[in-house]
Amino acid sequence: MTAGGGSATSPRRPWITVVGSVNLDFVARGPRLPAPGETVTGAVLARHPGGKGANQALAARRLGAQVRLVARVGCDAMADEALALLRAEGVDLTGCSGDPGTPTGVALIAVADGGENQIVVAAGANAALRVADVTDAAAEPAPASDALIAQLEVPVETVRAAALRHSGFVCLNLAPALDVPADLLARADLVVVNESEAEYYGTALGATTGGLVAITLGARGAELWRDGRRIAVAAPPKVAVVDTTGAGDCFVAALVVALLEGQDPEAALRFACAAGALATTRAGAQPALPWRTEVDYLFAAPLA
Ligand code: ADP
Repeated sequence: MTAGGGSATSPRRPWITVVGSVNLDFVARGPRLPAPGETVTGAVLARHPGGKGANQALAARRLGAQVRLVARVGCDAMADEALALLRAEGVDLTGCSGDPGTPTGVALIAVADGGENQIVVAAGANAALRVADVTDAAAEPAPASDALIAQLEVPVETVRAAALRHSGFVCLNLAPALDVPADLLARADLVVVNESEAEYYGTALGATTGGLVAITLGARGAELWRDGRRIAVAAPPKVAVVDTTGAGDCFVAALVVALLEGQDPEAALRFACAAGALATTRAGAQPALPWRTEVDYLFAAPLA
């Protein structure tokens, strides 16, 4: 299926299924990062819901879509905390199951005063998201969703099964960068990578024949490619950057929402850049994700 061919905006809210990770992020801000074997004291701890799947699900929801998240968490208190914002904001969590044998995924993030960070991810229950979880009726109850969004923080064979059986628009965010089967790449209507992921995949991105490839470039914005040709470029509006965590996840969700609404590729790319930029203006990933009215306002404003 293709999206983004027309210019009219559909009044219907798109339905999006996100298959991906749920984490609880523990962020310790301290004076500096420890060397191997060293202990650094004086840090301040914050806990935020995170994980690329959960971030993208919440972003799409705040941008106006109806969203279902298919994920695996532990049967522990961290799961409640990790899913709290999604639940409060109406993301359908009937496809999120608890794994009695593994804890909820966790990211341990150390941030130094200068903003430099070190991250250790313990995938926990995310690694236990199985093919059966995405083929189950709870994962895709009728009517089928308009789009599937998936990333690579859950097993690739599960992402592959979800993509190959989905009848709508398939967006693959190839993050973190790791090898994926050719039939999965070929099924993607849209692939989203950042600069370092684009370098990792190189010419393999050409396998998405006819599909779109979006490359995000941080503060420089993003590019959209089709069949080896660059078809659109966009720069984000100027914003006061506080924390770039989650900007890429917000970009992915915004681009899919805009394409499903029928925005043309260039307008959709500008919309996604504006959404990504807004996500950098507040601390944390999920708490910083913008609402639709904020993006529409910034999108409509003349570029600085
Ligand atoms: P990732 O976090 O996945 O590496 P990027 O850093 O490329 O992704 O950012 C994704 C999008 O977020 C960019 O295309 C841009 O729209 C927005 N963005 C990221 N960093 C900034 C920034 N410093 N200023 C404005 N917008 C930004």
